[in-house]
Amino acid sequence: MWESGLESRPDQDRIAMEKRLLIIGIDSLDPEVILQERHQLPVLSRLIDASLTYRASSVFPADTIPAWVSIYTGLLPANHGISYAFDLFDPDRKGLAGIDSSRIRGSTFWDITGTAGLRSVIVQPMLVYPGWPIKGVMVCRSPMDRRLNWIETESDITTHPKDTTERYAIPLRFRGIWGGYPGRLNLGRWVHHGLEILEEEKRMGLTLLREESWDLFFIYLSILDIIQHRLWRFHDTGDPTYPGETEMAPVIKGYYRAMDALIGEFLRSAPDAGVIVMSDHGHGRRPVKTVNVNEILRRNGYLSSNHLTEKLAAKVRNAVLAVIDHLGGEEILIRVSAAFSPIARFGGSLYSGDPAIPPGSRACLSRFAGIKSYPHGGIEIRREGISDQEYEKVRGAIITSLESLSTPNGEPLFDFIGRREDVAPGSYSDEIYPDILFRLRDGWGVGWDLHSDIFGRAHDHRVASGGHTAHGVLLVHNLNRDIRRKTLSITDLSPTILDYFGIPRQDLNLDGKSIFGSD
Ligand SMILES: [Zn+2]
Repeated sequence: MWESGLESRPDQDRIAMEKRLLIIGIDSLDPEVILQERHQLPVLSRLIDASLTYRASSVFPADTIPAWVSIYTGLLPANHGISYAFDLFDPDRKGLAGIDSSRIRGSTFWDITGTAGLRSVIVQPMLVYPGWPIKGVMVCRSPMDRRLNWIETESDITTHPKDTTERYAIPLRFRGIWGGYPGRLNLGRWVHHGLEILEEEKRMGLTLLREESWDLFFIYLSILDIIQHRLWRFHDTGDPTYPGETEMAPVIKGYYRAMDALIGEFLRSAPDAGVIVMSDHGHGRRPVKTVNVNEILRRNGYLSSNHLTEKLAAKVRNAVLAVIDHLGGEEILIRVSAAFSPIARFGGSLYSGDPAIPPGSRACLSRFAGIKSYPHGGIEIRREGISDQEYEKVRGAIITSLESLSTPNGEPLFDFIGRREDVAPGSYSDEIYPDILFRLRDGWGVGWDLHSDIFGRAHDHRVASGGHTAHGVLLVHNLNRDIRRKTLSITDLSPTILDYFGIPRQDLNLDGKSIFGSD
């Protein structure tokens, strides 16, 4: 028989007794889509009416891995040091495989509440695998899923304690949906499969929620992010590649309704609990208009690409991409890419150009945030053989030359551009960020073309039309606490949980602040 959860809790008297707390973490749940669809989302709509909070800013860059680690720890990426961007052309995901998630062992909200004597149930927290023993139960799912076909993946599961799998008949492998583009003919089956997976995740979560004893329950759900990345252009009538009212048009709305129903079931299963529903970032149209930053650097003499062969390769690449884009044929390239990594590297180079600083160059675009057409990006500057003084001179000159640039309409092109230690200061800043960080004006994304025009368009929009936006959701319900703060960040979750349970956090040096405090 498993432990009842009613074992003595020696630290209990140190903790201000509060109601138990249920947290539902939904990747990419977007505040604006919810507002547009709220007439179809009864549960979220009631939560919005009752919640004193709604939007919460994400981290820089607004990517899943650094964002969830910030949610777990209350630290900005520059202070937790974990960053990774999922990338279409990185099928090996070496960067992801190299992240040791046990680095955050001891500093997650469930570890800290556990030390204070509270019991947690933590269900498939993004990135945390194989996990570690906690006070309570944790089910961990490997982020390194294996593709079975164009639709399905599977990933390994570990549980703490180990016998949790037997007690709840949890399989040793979970099914998932492939994050890549499934191909036009498979889209329907892919969408349906995703809903089945969501149902399985919900069943497991509800069983643990009902059967286990807990003070803190957290479940993470990833599927909405994948669906929005691939299907955004079928949902967004303002997207230049919106194909009209197709059978794919209602899919994203349908997934929001499924999420709404899921939240409702969790709420009904723990009616006494305080509740937080949150996401790591929002989702919206990925920029179609691009700025070819490497080409600007080349024209300003920072990036050298003078060899005839390179020039020719760049011209061929641009021509091939233009043709593929025109024919809507990226899926061919991408499906081949996903199957064979050497070709993926070729595919990657087709989209991105060389990832390293080319010989004889002083600077080039960084791949730290992936080779996507995203508004955020960075520039790497050569350090070898260059004095600190010269380095700072080059860095300053590049920032000055770029920050004054305008769009063809004469509006400033950059929201901000600056040195990494100014934009994102922290103990790991120089490990995870390139030398210069920037965010482009809304509607513009980073372009990777070389020997091209300065302004272009995203070649991968048809297969990845949705992208992360800078604000996620943070909804609270039934907490019975005053909330006065107006500006919230996803890093506020961890300190809020600690504050809720009366656990001291002064010594933790968290970047986030409890939402029960003042601005
Ligand atoms: Zn995410």
